[in-house]
Amino acid sequence: MIEFDLTIGGAPVKTARRFEVMNPATGTAAGLAPNAGLAELDAAVAAAKTAFRDWSRKPDAELQAMCEAVAAKIGEHAEELAQIITTEQGKPLNGLGSRWEMGGAAAWAGYTAGLSLPVKVLQDNAEGRVELHRKPLGVVGSITPWNFPVMIAIWHIMPALRTGNTVVIKPSPNTPLSTLRLVQIINEVLPAGVVNVVTGDDQAENLGAAMSAHPDIRKVVFTGSCATGQKVMASAAQTMKRLTLELGGNDAGIVLPDADPQAIAEGLFWGAFINNGQTCAAMKRLYVHESIHDAVCAALVEFARNIPVGDGRDETSILGPVQNRMQFDKVSRLVADAKERGTVLLGGAPGAGLFYPPTIISGLKNGDPLVDEEQFGPALPVISYSDVDAAIAAANDSPNGLGGSVWSSDPEAAKAVALQLECGSVWINKHGAIQPNAPFGGVKSSGLGVEFAEEGLAEYTDIQTVFS
Ligand code: NAD
Repeated sequence: MIEFDLTIGGAPVKTARRFEVMNPATGTAAGLAPNAGLAELDAAVAAAKTAFRDWSRKPDAELQAMCEAVAAKIGEHAEELAQIITTEQGKPLNGLGSRWEMGGAAAWAGYTAGLSLPVKVLQDNAEGRVELHRKPLGVVGSITPWNFPVMIAIWHIMPALRTGNTVVIKPSPNTPLSTLRLVQIINEVLPAGVVNVVTGDDQAENLGAAMSAHPDIRKVVFTGSCATGQKVMASAAQTMKRLTLELGGNDAGIVLPDADPQAIAEGLFWGAFINNGQTCAAMKRLYVHESIHDAVCAALVEFARNIPVGDGRDETSILGPVQNRMQFDKVSRLVADAKERGTVLLGGAPGAGLFYPPTIISGLKNGDPLVDEEQFGPALPVISYSDVDAAIAAANDSPNGLGGSVWSSDPEAAKAVALQLECGSVWINKHGAIQPNAPFGGVKSSGLGVEFAEEGLAEYTDIQTVFS
């Protein structure tokens, strides 16, 4: 049984109550997490506020060195954290699983440590000098989901620290253990109170809601569903919090008539099924030109049927279970409905426990629930089209706008289509490949602001313009 305390003000804190965390591969308890309430949240915010005084005044080179030390710690503990992620999240150790997630976390931490936002001189002439300074905000509240618990925590924590802020992080109740351990580890190299963690079961007291309204939290960075993101935005209004909201997506992929089905099958599969489809910027709808529809479906199914699905702790597994019952029920409902409307090419029926096999269903169209709703699971709808403009319109006919992709043997033709997609990131002949030097964020209902690169770093600062 894995068990960790909260970390508040650099010290372990026990709570009167704890809650069970399940291993989704076995349905048995994997660990116990502290069930914190508003008192612990207030203590964490107070500790972060106290720590901010010194942390925010440190010379930039010192902040950078400390962030580099954090990145090194993450690298040192990568295997330990990968094991915890697999146990509570379900994703396999191998493939694009927890070891890959930890590789990403270490890489993002290291890259973000090296970023900076130097003072910009806007004017320097006989009429005067104008400088643009970037100043830290104060306490940043980070609220994370259960799909990439450590990588997303790093995406929130590192830019906050690098710019001189302090942090209170609250992970999802489904995957709190890896974040509790992550914060213990990074506290080994940080002053007390710079990063604090609270966990709760979202039942009697909802810590995320309390954070969004907390008067001493100056910014919330939230990754999760659109519905919760809207609640965060509403309650943040009272205190004029800065917000970064990375919300849900319903990314479309468009395969143009000149694409080579065999060449793109593997990329299509991983674009859709990475982390069992439980990925914000996974391909969740695939539009294929009618002339190659059957060939693309055949190549995709052929690739997908050879992927080993099993307990993530088994070194041979490449996909694991769905993470939680609510998500499993959602996928089951959407697939059951889609079976009535289209043709099941692969999978299509729930497995044991929370296992759901990779499922591909053709013959669907916009308006069908599996096409319109974010399934966030291993079920891909394929839609045949005859006219590219109509496919672009169908792809854009969604309240979401996180990512998109175009697949073609002609990269320039693909780019011309890509530029017409209403989404924050668009890929050609791949999908979902994010990187720390490129801003990432959603348009329309998929979010507000961006993460990564200098643009993402700037979101953790206020501008102060100095005229002299
Ligand atoms: P969720 O919205 O249910 O939960 C996210 C977090 O919000 C959890 O920590 C939860 O405890 C907390 N929370 C619950 N109620 C709250 C409230 N009232 N106020 C503030 N916080 C509250 O999302 P989830 O099911 O954990 O994650 C899946 C969703 O996240 C999907 O829609 C997915 O697309 C999205 N997501 C987006 C990105 C991105 O970068 N855009 C990345 C990963 C996941």
